[in-house]
Amino acid sequence: MNTASLTAHELMDRIKIGGITPARIVDDVLARAQAVNPGTHAFIRFADKITAGEGACPLPIAIKDNICVNGSLTTCASKILEGFRPPYDAEVVARIKAAGGVILGSANMDEFAFGSSCETSVYGPSHNPWDLKRVPGGSSGGSAAAVAAGQAVWALGSDTGGSIRQPAAFCGVVGLKPTYGRVSRYGLIAFGSSLDQIGPITKDVRDGALLLNIIAGFDPKDSTSVNAPVPDYTRALGRDVKGLRIGIPREYFIPGIQPEVLAAVRAAIDVFKAQGAQIVDIALPHTAYAVATYYIVATAEASSNLARFDGVEYGLRAFPAVPRKGKLIDMYEETRAQGFGAEAKRRIMLGTYVLSSGYYDAYYLRAQKVRTLIKQDFEKAFGACDVILSPTTPTTAFRIGEKMNDPVAMYLSDIFTIPANMAGIPAISIPCGFDGAKLPVGLQLMAGPFAEETLLAAAYAYEQAAPWHQARASL
Ligand code: GLN
Repeated sequence: MNTASLTAHELMDRIKIGGITPARIVDDVLARAQAVNPGTHAFIRFADKITAGEGACPLPIAIKDNICVNGSLTTCASKILEGFRPPYDAEVVARIKAAGGVILGSANMDEFAFGSSCETSVYGPSHNPWDLKRVPGGSSGGSAAAVAAGQAVWALGSDTGGSIRQPAAFCGVVGLKPTYGRVSRYGLIAFGSSLDQIGPITKDVRDGALLLNIIAGFDPKDSTSVNAPVPDYTRALGRDVKGLRIGIPREYFIPGIQPEVLAAVRAAIDVFKAQGAQIVDIALPHTAYAVATYYIVATAEASSNLARFDGVEYGLRAFPAVPRKGKLIDMYEETRAQGFGAEAKRRIMLGTYVLSSGYYDAYYLRAQKVRTLIKQDFEKAFGACDVILSPTTPTTAFRIGEKMNDPVAMYLSDIFTIPANMAGIPAISIPCGFDGAKLPVGLQLMAGPFAEETLLAAAYAYEQAAPWHQARASL
C-alpha cells in the first residue's frame, strides 16, 4: 500500500478498521513530501513541529501561504511579509485543527495570489508533477502540485479569479471554489475581498465534499460569511443526474481553445448524456467582458488591501541608503520598493489608477456595472439549467517561462474561471482526460449560489463514470 497515493476517505476507512494509524499516515506522507519536494517545490517550507493528529479527521494537509497559521511563517510568497508570524489561526485552520488535521507546511503560490503559474513567488516557481518543466498553474499551484504528487492528502487554496480551479486542472486534481460567503475568509490575507474564497484541493470529489464539511459555515469574524446551515456534503454524492439540466454556454466554446481540451470536454458532455442528463444550450452574453472587468475590480481591491504593507506593522522594513531625517515616507517607499515583486507593483499601480479621481467613474464604477450584468447572465441561465459545464482552462499546463513576459496572455488563462468569482457562485474543476503530451485536462462545473450539493452530485456522477482522477503522476 502506498499511503501517499490514497485519498482522504480511503485513509479514513483504513484508520477505522485499524489498518493504519494517523501517526503512520503523517510519517509516510511527510517522507514522500520531503523526498519529491526538490522536484516539485510545492512546499516553500515545512511546519516547525509536525505531530500526529487526534480527532475526527487526523490527516495531513498543505496550507496555501496566504492563510494564517498561528505562530508559523505566513508570507503570501512575498518578500514584504518576510518573517511574519500571525498571532492567530485563520478560521479554516482553526476548524481543521479542531478536526485533528495536521499542517505539513506552507504551499507555494504566486505572490499575493497574483498570477496563474506560481512563477511570481519570491521563492521561485513550483513545478507540475506531470511534467516538471511546466507550471502547476496558479495562484494555488503549490497546493495543487502537492496533492497531485502525493505530498499531502489534501490542501487548501484560495480562488479570486480561478486560483483553485486552474491549478487543479493543470495538475489533474479536484478544486472547488465555494459560494462567496460559504467559507470564512477570516485569516486569509486579502487580495480582492469581494471575490476571494478559500476552498479544497483534493484527489477526488468525495474528498472535496469531506474537506468542505470541515471548513464551511458561518463565522461572525467575517462579515461576509453567510449564516446558513451547512449540509453534510457527502450526502449529495451518488445522487442521480438523470434529468439534471446541464447548460453549455456558447460563449465558452470559442476558437483558441486547445483542440484536445475541447475534445475532452465534448466527451464529458457525452458521459453526462449517457447518464440521462439533459443538455441545454445557454447564453452568457457578457462573458467577453469578464477578464477586463475582473482586472479593474480585482486590482482596485488589491491596491487598497496592500496599502497596509508599509513596513510599520508586518514583515519587511527597509530604509534608503541615505535616510533623510524626519522623512517617514522614505521608509514606506523603500519597504514597498524592495518588498513587492513586479506583478504586485503592476497591480497596485493599475488598481490605484482606476480608483483615482477622474478615472473612478470611467473604470471602477463602470466595471462594477458590468459585473452586475455578468451576475445577471448567470441568474438568467440558472432558470434554464441546474449546472453549467465548460472547460476549466483554454489550454493544458504551459511551460515555465512561456508567458512571464506577456501578462495579457497569462491573464487569459483565467477566461473561463473569472466569471464565477464575479457572480459569487460555486464552481469545481475535475479531471476529464489528458492531451497528447499526457497533461491533465480540467472540466469545470458551475452552479447557483449555495448549490454546492448539486455541483458535487454532478461532479461525482461524472467521476464514477469516467475515473480520470485515478491516474497518478509518476515522479
Ligand atoms: N490568475 C488570476 C489573477 O492573476 C486569479 C488569481 C486568483 O484567483 N487568486 O488574478
